[in-house]
Amino acid sequence: ERERLSRLRHTPAVTLDGQRVDLLANIEMPEDSPAALGVGAVGVGLFRSEFLFMGREGALPDEQEQFQAYRRAVEGMKGLPVTIRTVDVGADKPLDRAMKEEAHLNPALGLRAIRWSLADPAMFLTQLRAILRAAAYGQVHLLIPMLAHAREIQQTLALLEQARKQLDKRGVAFGPVKVGAMIEVPAAALSVKMFLRYFDFLSIGTNDLIQYTLAIDRADESVAHLYDPLHPAVLRLVADVIAECRAQGKGVSVCGEMAGDPSLTRLLLGLGLRSFSMHPTQILAVKQEIIRADALRLEAWSQSVLASDEPAELMGF
Ligand code: PEP
Ligand code: MG
Repeated sequence: ERERLSRLRHTPAVTLDGQRVDLLANIEMPEDSPAALGVGAVGVGLFRSEFLFMGREGALPDEQEQFQAYRRAVEGMKGLPVTIRTVDVGADKPLDRAMKEEAHLNPALGLRAIRWSLADPAMFLTQLRAILRAAAYGQVHLLIPMLAHAREIQQTLALLEQARKQLDKRGVAFGPVKVGAMIEVPAAALSVKMFLRYFDFLSIGTNDLIQYTLAIDRADESVAHLYDPLHPAVLRLVADVIAECRAQGKGVSVCGEMAGDPSLTRLLLGLGLRSFSMHPTQILAVKQEIIRADALRLEAWSQSVLASDEPAELMGF
């Protein structure tokens, strides 16, 4: 099976009815880029930059160290686009032992991701400058995790502008970036129109979107049986975000685990998704589903799945 799949490496990800699909890789370190290229990913849809920050028990990476890591990732992808997400520490990804021990009342609802970044603007500016500098070496898209409020969006974009000004003043080279937001909180999914007024593209983080929609801690084994990507409420949020982005001609992808699950590929295709980002090991299995699918015929079927109380049953699980 693995050998049969590996023959799909160079096969374009196009459906039977000619719909082109982008299959992108999720990476955690610059050194993961050969694995992404090896399975024919057309770019990195999610570089989880927090892995540069975690487990150091000392100083955070400075601008130069971050710049070099981002540049290595960009150059490693040989001209393909790389989507760098700003740090997403907290909750299931504690920065260090101290953060783990301090764990607040409920870290998943606490100071994590963009909230953590905005709480320390100097640290955040350092990361933004490093990412802008790496954009001088290839196609970089900047992705912001866990946003919910207009104010957070405005603060983030203002800091990005400030980072550009600081680099200008220092006379340091930097490149243009497309700026996108992750949709991981139900409030964000329900505010998709507002998000699209600010951002060039959106990426749906289903891991967190499921957690927050269903009130299921994604790290808590005792409720894992209730963690359901196919709950009608989750599907409704995902479907509406995709539909609104498509209506406005804006890019949208899914970068949570759902994107890498071949048993969900047909459903996401039917909901209009044309960009999937996943662990590199999943890319060929998802591609196999895509080249066997008729996207137009899946549309009507997906609407019936969406309307069902028991989508999983309708899908034959
Ligand atoms: C997600 O929440 O779906 C996501 C891709 O981000 P992470 O898994 O890193 O929280
Ligand atoms: Mg997330």
